[in-house]
Amino acid sequence: MSAAPKLSISPTLALARPDILTLQAYEHALWDPGLERLHANELPWRASGDNSGAGLNRYPEPQPRALVARLASLYGVAPEQTLVGRGSDEGIDLVVRAFCRAGEDAVLITPPTFGMYAVAARIQGAAVRSVPLDARRGFALDADTVLAACDPSVRVVFLCSPNNPTGNLLDADAMAHLARALEGRAILVVDEAYGEFAEGPGMAPRLAAHPNLVVLRTLSKAHGLAGARCGSLLAAPEIVALLRKLIPPYAITQLTVEAVLQFLEPPALAVMRERIALLRRERARLYHSLQRMAGVDHVWPSEANFLLASFVQPDQALQRSLDAGLLVRDVRRQPGLGHALRITVGTPEQNDRLLQALSS
Ligand SMILES: *Cc1c(COP(=O)(O)O)cnc(C)c1O
Repeated sequence: MSAAPKLSISPTLALARPDILTLQAYEHALWDPGLERLHANELPWRASGDNSGAGLNRYPEPQPRALVARLASLYGVAPEQTLVGRGSDEGIDLVVRAFCRAGEDAVLITPPTFGMYAVAARIQGAAVRSVPLDARRGFALDADTVLAACDPSVRVVFLCSPNNPTGNLLDADAMAHLARALEGRAILVVDEAYGEFAEGPGMAPRLAAHPNLVVLRTLSKAHGLAGARCGSLLAAPEIVALLRKLIPPYAITQLTVEAVLQFLEPPALAVMRERIALLRRERARLYHSLQRMAGVDHVWPSEANFLLASFVQPDQALQRSLDAGLLVRDVRRQPGLGHALRITVGTPEQNDRLLQALSS
């Protein structure tokens, strides 16, 4: 009782852990580039050879405003709806930590899907419920079955679209229907790590209609910046404000801020779009070649930068890839994927080499 906040809160925030709602956030050192910094115990000189814009001797700005604004505009949302973190992985972790009480609450996942949702839940001590995607309908979302499985302990539902490792988009209207039905009951997270490789605007334009919707985007895949560790969590401002209390105050390094701002300038974005176009052409070529190949049972159509393919002899396919110096992902442990491997679309030369190795 004593932990309950006195002010009335929205039905969405009421889903959060009470101790997180009342948590006093760490008061980081005031950030004002116009003033001299004698308040953060930093060294007043740059390290020898430090050519960064702001100086690595300084703590970076928490939630750097320029970066937040740039990412918000990239994804067509407001800065207040944007939390920048170390990849989408950090967003996944923050949502689970904010909304799931250890030993009491649960998350729901729709396998086969990305493994981090369940790992983040287990680290937090939350249970993991599974409602498989419908394999007979190309791994489509069965929103009503998900809804039926959402008892009051389920606080977070994770969907992935395009889904990793199956490659298909989930139906946007089905996801919106689920978000609406879960209002005041659970947070719906839609992970769009591969959104740039697919057609359509994704779920970000629907955020205003759904107070419990969280969309995850990342620079790791289509932007070619996996090593920079920069992802965005898009949600209602009150969710973003809540999660800001949990994210470490200096999560984004100054090196990342400066590099990413440069990579989001129009010339770099133009290169990125050309590469996405090339990658989609290669995806189509790989898809058709694999489909015609002896020893391949099935190839699933993909809206991402990878293909899921089922092999008659997957061990042999893995070995042949390795012999050609190529790693592909063994996903056979995932439910319903008994003979399947996940193949990332590479350069035309890599794809040729893979096709040749597999057909030998
Ligand atoms: C790769 C991947 C991520 C990880 O993204 P980061 O931004 O690099 O943390 C998140 N979700 C899915 C489904 C992925 O495949």
